[in-house]
Amino acid sequence: MNETDPSTEAAKGRGPLWLDPDDLRWLSKHCGCTADASDEEKDRCGRVRFRASAALHKHGHSH
Ligand SMILES: [Zn+2]
Repeated sequence: MNETDPSTEAAKGRGPLWLDPDDLRWLSKHCGCTADASDEEKDRCGRVRFRASAALHKHGHSH
């Protein structure tokens, strides 16, 4: 898994998203895609859930 570098992320226009562990846990498992969702929607959904679980993992290791 790639570690995220804050300055690189910021250069891409990304911003930090601070959520409670419970929210991250929910987000990492939540999928709202419908059966006819486009590939773009599914890609975005997968990306968000991957980020949430990565953030959760990181959080778990820093405490
Ligand atoms: Zn989904």
